[in-house]
Amino acid sequence: MSVLISLESIFPYVKWRKGQRELAEEVYRVSKEGGTLFVNYPTGSGKTVAILTGALKAAVEKDLKIYYLVKTKNQLISPINELKKIKSRQKVVTFSYIYNKKDMCLLKSLKGLDYLDFLRYCSFLIKNKRCPYYRKAVKLQGYLSNGDVNVYKYGEEMSVCPYELAKKNIPNTLITISVYNYLFNPDIRAIIEREVNLRLERSILIVDEGHNLPDSIISMLARELRRDWIMRARKEVAKFYKGEDKESIIGELTRLLSYFKYLERKIGGRKYLELNYDEFPVYELDPDKLFKAALAIERREGNELFSPLSYIRKIAEFWKELRTRRAAKVLIFERGFKTSVVKLLYVLPPPDSTDPLRKAHAAIVMSGTLPPAEHLIFTLNLQDKNVRSIGMSSPYAVNLKILGIKGVSSRYTERYEENFIKMAKLIREVYDSLPEGIVLAVFSSYDYLRYIIPYVKIQDVIVERENTTLEEINSKVRGKNKLLIACSAWGKVAEGIEIKVNEKSLIRAIVIAGLPVPEPSSYREKFYEIMLARTRDKDKAWKHTYVIPAVMKVIQALGRSVRSENDRAVAVLLDDRFFEQYVLNIINSYGYKVEEINPRLLKNSILSFFNKA
Ligand code: SF4
Repeated sequence: MSVLISLESIFPYVKWRKGQRELAEEVYRVSKEGGTLFVNYPTGSGKTVAILTGALKAAVEKDLKIYYLVKTKNQLISPINELKKIKSRQKVVTFSYIYNKKDMCLLKSLKGLDYLDFLRYCSFLIKNKRCPYYRKAVKLQGYLSNGDVNVYKYGEEMSVCPYELAKKNIPNTLITISVYNYLFNPDIRAIIEREVNLRLERSILIVDEGHNLPDSIISMLARELRRDWIMRARKEVAKFYKGEDKESIIGELTRLLSYFKYLERKIGGRKYLELNYDEFPVYELDPDKLFKAALAIERREGNELFSPLSYIRKIAEFWKELRTRRAAKVLIFERGFKTSVVKLLYVLPPPDSTDPLRKAHAAIVMSGTLPPAEHLIFTLNLQDKNVRSIGMSSPYAVNLKILGIKGVSSRYTERYEENFIKMAKLIREVYDSLPEGIVLAVFSSYDYLRYIIPYVKIQDVIVERENTTLEEINSKVRGKNKLLIACSAWGKVAEGIEIKVNEKSLIRAIVIAGLPVPEPSSYREKFYEIMLARTRDKDKAWKHTYVIPAVMKVIQALGRSVRSENDRAVAVLLDDRFFEQYVLNIINSYGYKVEEINPRLLKNSILSFFNKA
């Protein structure tokens, strides 16, 4: 029997903030009727609680289950906190959460294992009745879920496996919070489907930080094949394997090693080499044959207890991924410090990975920086007719003054010294206009950054490299009164840096040095081919491949400065292409207004903006 409840009886705050009630109503409508809703609401607008309110009302009334999915374990905290408040108001709401099994494991001695080794060891212990925590979890009857309880601590106190406890909770609760992996990694989803009676057609999915979803899926399905693994696998097979195909496997691995040597010569001074997918498995390996050998090696005589994953299994896993999913992939060869490696990367999320979005009764995809709806539809392979959108621009967007300058560009055809000097001079001008604070100079690529930065001639500058972490940047910033941070639009800094003192952002200016159009590569070519097949329009395919990803990087970078109503900042866009109507339309849709300015007036304009503050 369905129960009717009002939004107000769920919403745990006294007053709705601007846009929250409309959002809750729209989420309720889509969750009840079915379909997909894209929610583009800024950070700090209270979208999490509004979405939960709408989805919970529909779930209670229609007897549906909600899965709330986040990218990382740390992002579980925000929905859990909101649900605790909701639960104290509306008793019918029950929730549970589950994350990475290794992080939930009580056996500290397993923490050092890599994830696949850990999973295998855990199954070994379960199968052989050697994990006391698991045994207690199985015996535990009628554990009543209560999301208020920290399931890890509870498990620790009761000496019961927290992961198993969390799993038991899933079918008993209205809403389960988890990480993307659980539903968007097809292999893990298959396990979850078996273990917790997952019924997508009776579920509402809420995807948090949805702009991350395509890239997160791509990285969770990426695989590596390392030269040292092949060498170790060959030794393992020679020493421990007794199967009749032993010699043929050794021969294949030897030929594979020769292929690596050939690639090491071919790469020369380049950072990476894109391999031709059709030519790569020069020596066809049969994953089934490799898995059979792996099993025999892992269970070899005298080793019945447990051995870590064999290297031949790692090679089998790579080959399985290479040969099974038919979605477009690229193979990249890199020579690392210790070993060389072939990386298998998907160009777009393969269709089976995004199945949950299509199979669920309803899906809510939310973020503060969702790309245009059409782009998400094509990248996630959704049905256009079932998708609706709701958005609200940032109330703080007006605190960011955006100036655009024509006559400069990071286009490949314009990469010569005279233009580098022009670009560097403008960055310097912005820096000199500020009495204090941080200027974030966001370059269209790491290469472009390296061309320009020598001409900028500023002493206090931190340069982001491909492997720089946010912690490193934050530690270098401490104690500096004025500073330039030079980063790539495609790096971690432009995506996630936040530098605050007393709740105020120290980033006073952002310079976007060139529209960060992705560099041409076979990866992009494949992306374009897929977009062309999906859009059947060359211009659209081009925009989805190059223009939209570039503008979205700019939108993310612009969000680094003004984080609250206390912040004011200037952004300067340095590229003619920012004035193309299509680009301007996307920027405007986030509540930003670009004002064209003569470079000679730049300094005065910045000074007068801050003087008005
Ligand atoms: S059953 Fe639980 S506690 Fe035991 S090894 Fe596996 S994850 Fe760890």
